[in-house]
Amino acid sequence: MGLLDIVPAGVVTGDNLRKLMNYAREHKFAIPAINCTSTSTINAALEAARDLKSPIIIQFSNGGSAYFAGKGLSNKNQEASIIGAVAGAQYVRAVAKAYGIPVVVHSDHCAKKLLPWFDGMIAADEAYFKANGEPLFSSHMLDLSEESKEENIEICLQYLKRMAPMGCALEMEIGITGGEEDGVNNEDVDNASLYTQPEDIWEIYKAFSEITDLFSIAAAFGNVHGVYAPGNVRLHPELLAKHQAYVHEQLKSENPLPVFFVFHGGSGSTEQEIATAVENGVIKMNVDTDTQWAYWIGLRNYYEAKKDYLQTQVGNPEGEGKPNKKFYDPRVFVRESEKTMIARVQQACKDLGNVERL
Ligand SMILES: [Zn+2]
Repeated sequence: MGLLDIVPAGVVTGDNLRKLMNYAREHKFAIPAINCTSTSTINAALEAARDLKSPIIIQFSNGGSAYFAGKGLSNKNQEASIIGAVAGAQYVRAVAKAYGIPVVVHSDHCAKKLLPWFDGMIAADEAYFKANGEPLFSSHMLDLSEESKEENIEICLQYLKRMAPMGCALEMEIGITGGEEDGVNNEDVDNASLYTQPEDIWEIYKAFSEITDLFSIAAAFGNVHGVYAPGNVRLHPELLAKHQAYVHEQLKSENPLPVFFVFHGGSGSTEQEIATAVENGVIKMNVDTDTQWAYWIGLRNYYEAKKDYLQTQVGNPEGEGKPNKKFYDPRVFVRESEKTMIARVQQACKDLGNVERL
């Protein structure tokens, strides 16, 4: 039985999202969450997944959302980030079904200082829910890992209570993921705090599951955001097995993998590390840095190959009067970026076993 036997094509929320998450955990694969900043990058992610017959997650960061709305807009009080995230989600909704695959539309890391952005998106979900019986977004991510564990859980619960009745899922983060992303710099934290403890996972699981099962946890197991030269931090995805076993033991559940885990900071991980993570209940892995690079490389290669056609509007090696329009049309050079991004998204899908799942 494939995914399209149990969920429809297009954006999935609520029950359909639950089915998709369970299906991934049961069949031991994870869905890449591609950070998108434009319709071009969204289309590339959708096309990549469609051609592999698999679902995909489109996610918007705070900065990516503001960029989506336009760099010319003020982001005072998170206005541009709210408008951009909502516009991005609406765009995904407008095209997703045409690609014939299940799509999760998600917002990425939201730290405490960015909560007005989160509030704006939840308000948009509530308005959309009123009109359509489902939220605009499939899910959102709250990253309060810089706060105390108590405050982290408490704020998450407040939002979860608003999101659960709409069937909107929450992803939370516990422990510290190293590296730098959207202005949060954790490059200097000590190693001990880079590994979440099983007791913490249980505390979260217990509190959240009293409200809903639509939540996932980004636990720290030595992950680093971005790509860095190999350093002191070591990735230990096998720790996720301990978390699952601990929660399983507390719950006495039938399912040996009760927790939905998310893999942040996966750039540069080995195939083995990714496989271990997926084996232990990771159903989503964030992909940002590597697809940014891929998008750039497509353009760079194009420029290098067509350099002599890109210096003036008219005149190239084929003749002084030859027009260059077909070389500098953005549909041509942006498409080259899309092609290399598509290839990189497909590589992520293959690494995670997200292939032929429809
Ligand atoms: Zn994170």
